[in-house]
Amino acid sequence: MTESTSPTAPSLLDSFAGLGLPADLLATLAEVGYETPSPIQAACIPHLLAGRDLLGEAQTGTGKTAAFALPILARLDLASPHPQALVLTPTRELALQVAEAFTKYAHHLRGFHVLPVYGGQSMVVQLRQLSRGAQVIVGTPGRVMDHLERGSLKLDGLVTLVLDEADEMLRMGFIDDVEWILEHTPGERQTALFSATMPAAIRAVAHRHLRSPEEIHIRAATATVAKIRQRYWLVRGVDKLDALTRILDAEENFAAAIIFVRTKISTEELADKLAARGYAAAALNGDMTQVLRERVIEQLKTGALDIVVATDVAARGIDVPRISHVINYDIPYDTEAYVHRIGRTGRAGREGVAILFVAPRERRMLKSIERATRQPIEPIALPSREDVSSLRISQFKQKVLDTLADPDMDLDFFMNTVDAIAAENTLDAREIAAALAYLAQVERPLQIEEEGRGWDLATAPQQHGKPPREEIFTAGAPRTRQPRPDREEILNRRHAFADGKLQGYRIAVGRGHGVTPKEIVGALANEGGIEGRFIGQITLFDDFSTVELPARLSPDLLVALGRILVCGHPLAIRPLDENEAIPARRFRASSPRRGEKPSAKPWDKRAHRDNGSDTSRPPYKNKSQRRDAPPPVDKGRAPGWKKSREQK
Ligand code: ADP
Ligand code: MG
Repeated sequence: MTESTSPTAPSLLDSFAGLGLPADLLATLAEVGYETPSPIQAACIPHLLAGRDLLGEAQTGTGKTAAFALPILARLDLASPHPQALVLTPTRELALQVAEAFTKYAHHLRGFHVLPVYGGQSMVVQLRQLSRGAQVIVGTPGRVMDHLERGSLKLDGLVTLVLDEADEMLRMGFIDDVEWILEHTPGERQTALFSATMPAAIRAVAHRHLRSPEEIHIRAATATVAKIRQRYWLVRGVDKLDALTRILDAEENFAAAIIFVRTKISTEELADKLAARGYAAAALNGDMTQVLRERVIEQLKTGALDIVVATDVAARGIDVPRISHVINYDIPYDTEAYVHRIGRTGRAGREGVAILFVAPRERRMLKSIERATRQPIEPIALPSREDVSSLRISQFKQKVLDTLADPDMDLDFFMNTVDAIAAENTLDAREIAAALAYLAQVERPLQIEEEGRGWDLATAPQQHGKPPREEIFTAGAPRTRQPRPDREEILNRRHAFADGKLQGYRIAVGRGHGVTPKEIVGALANEGGIEGRFIGQITLFDDFSTVELPARLSPDLLVALGRILVCGHPLAIRPLDENEAIPARRFRASSPRRGEKPSAKPWDKRAHRDNGSDTSRPPYKNKSQRRDAPPPVDKGRAPGWKKSREQK
């Protein structure tokens, strides 16, 4: 067993060449600017090159992708177009990112193809891409399983299988799918499992499927956290939004930020408010289409956006080196989420800053975060309004001087315009300059007044002069939405999530549509931004299903969730009526396999499979034979339950 406890520990392997990587990969690494391998890379690469199984535990941001991608690339047979490596990731974003990393590292490998496959992408496109061939497949478990079942993905020639972010796959309820895939791939393969934490369930998977693996543990709170300066602000007296803008304004070395909030609604709310205050901000959440989300990340990369307001799920794994700040606007649910969040900054060896907003009653969480990261988090004082004002004034002065000093700037036209205004109105230049200065600061007022005016001016719906920004914002997030829910509504939603009460909802897809519980969980988690642990029991019926979710989900969220497609059908979610109590579950989990604990998840796929539910089967014809099925629809007479729904 290999233990590496410090990233600075002297290592005989402090060059990539020393790890045994081939020359073409070394050339690429030099081009992308990696000088030395990170600890997890130094520890893993030789074993993976030697074909051994491996269990790797290391925090986010420690360079796990290259740790498995480089040895995979080194061992590929590029003459063959058949899949030789499969990487499973919990989300589409990660699948895309890992695929992108492969492409980057394979720059000098001719004939190399990597293919990301994930739910939500067109099957037709994927089938075509698969038939063209790729040596490396990176995918989410559900979609990979679909392709294996259809036979569109053949893994007879598989050499290496990687489980990336295994703990996250567990958290999102995908672990059964992962095991199914492990059981349906050649036994002779090499398997590597990477995880930021090692919960017992992950150890169990490793125990069942890895062959005397090499174990690598890079102790927590090393590379990532050390490079991140962690601070907190105790929420008191000042409104959180007001505090946020003051902090953003006063931060030195600010380049770009991810701001974490708990709900998708809050991402939109806060992004809108920041945008209205003149920040280049947009939301990133599971309601947005994949294309839109990718565009937001791209804009953050290029600097078209400086601030992205995101949920944990939507921001997971984002790798944008520009991100200088992570702001935990809403405190995370657990320390693990915190570590994942702050790992979005301090990327690629840069320094990062993490700021946490802590309400007085959340102080215990602050303490556990400090314990988990083994680092004190320093309190910060909020900059005063005067501080922010004088900062903005000095920035404004500097901008004016820079413009005047810019040799490429031809101001003749503008001077003539000012002269014309002066002559036509008998004004002096000072008065005109004052008016222009006023106009120039409307979006971000130089004088910050009492709560209300100064900011209100900036948030007034009719904005002056921001056409270029407008485009950015509309590109960043879908703007054609229902009116915003009011504050109380948002608070209600937060409470619903926080107090953990679940309630039954009805969704308009069922077994007859070919759905399985994991697809429902996947859609709600990936696209709905609802974490797996907030999804309770799922019960499938022929043409609808019930699912337990936090009570009191807002109408706004329900509309958004309702639009999500599963197997091509919108979820059309609504709370169950009072007289529609969740019907008794049809299937009980089958008895656990030998040596295996019963699955804790009510949506355990095996339970359904073992009971003869075949997802590829066409809609049931003979409904009346199923005791739990709604009564058959008589011609011309809708059954009561259906009618009441339609009248709603
Ligand atoms: P993880 O999967 O552990 O969260 P990533 O693989 O996403 O981490 O890597 C984090 C960042 O570090 C990426 O921006 C990556 O390009 C960069 N990186 C990885 N290895 C190295 C290296 N050896 N030198 C410099 N940067 C690296
Ligand atoms: Mg990773």
